Amino acid sequence: MARTRRAGAAVVAALILTALVGAPAAADPLPGDGKRTVWVAAADLGLHARPASASPVTVRALRGSIATYSGVSQGSWVRVRIGGTDAWAPARFLTTAKPAWRERPVWTVRDGAALRALPFASSPAVTTTFLGERGRLTGISRGSRVQVKHRGRFLWVHSSAVSTAPRFAATSTLVLVNKRNPLDPRDHVPANLVVVSGSSTARMRGAAASAMARMRSAAAADGVSFSVISAYRSYVTQRSLYARYVASLGQAAADRVSARAGYSEHQTGLAADLASGGGCRLGACFGDTAAGRWVRANAYRYGFVVRYPEGSTSITGYAYEPWHVRYVGRGVATAMREGGYATYEQYLGRPAAPTY
Ligand SMILES: [Zn+2]
Repeated sequence: MARTRRAGAAVVAALILTALVGAPAAADPLPGDGKRTVWVAAADLGLHARPASASPVTVRALRGSIATYSGVSQGSWVRVRIGGTDAWAPARFLTTAKPAWRERPVWTVRDGAALRALPFASSPAVTTTFLGERGRLTGISRGSRVQVKHRGRFLWVHSSAVSTAPRFAATSTLVLVNKRNPLDPRDHVPANLVVVSGSSTARMRGAAASAMARMRSAAAADGVSFSVISAYRSYVTQRSLYARYVASLGQAAADRVSARAGYSEHQTGLAADLASGGGCRLGACFGDTAAGRWVRANAYRYGFVVRYPEGSTSITGYAYEPWHVRYVGRGVATAMREGGYATYEQYLGRPAAPTY
């Protein structure tokens, strides 16, 4: 059966290439997927419930829409999945021409934007976005809407909701702070700082403090404990801390372990340094403790990421800091994990920041 289907697919591919491309070309599988094939609608067309033009049209595909071949064909018809719907299309209206999305820039969208199966306001929203969510533009637009690749699906969003150069204000929980991106203004003071549970002095912004409390409770339920030993630090505090590191280590070494004032994530009120009992404090050894392992595996569930992971110094500009977590919210933290992004810079598609 599988052999027959594959043979059928080969015949259909040959038909399409003859009809539309005129020269042989290889099918273009999606990255990481050796079986499915991307098919692009070569014209506006109706896709049918069954492989016959007399059967009802269940979904309309516009020229440039991207469909996924299901592996099933019948006569001159192929079954495809488009915008989450399975339907039949006449093979001659599909092409395996390479979609352009891989070369297109990263986009981010404003919170709550609707991603639709088709580029019309009347098309039902397949999903809505969360703040700072990102993906890639396919390079295809229709009227005021642009097509994006979102978690493996090709969907449409209004162009006004898309930005290809994400910048977040100092007050945003998504603000990127590194050696190339200081806080603006440099002496920014976050509002709504509250003392973190389990600490008498460490303060974080409200959302981050609540998430930290939930994370510590969940860890305790797993028999793992850690405390917050440092969280918010003001511009002035960071300035004197950095000066002490420079005095003892010299500037080059100080820059690998401490941020200059105005460039510290701690100044956002969204970062925290964790410690567990035992002799390891603010050292790479924290990563090998039960707390360090638990945090690395579970922090994303509470909206935190280990911000300076091992092997990423050339991107983050900092040595491995398994104890330093940054709150970015559950949506982004989960998307980073699922997408395999080691650093926040890579997730946002922003340049590495190894030095000032
Ligand atoms: Zn830190």
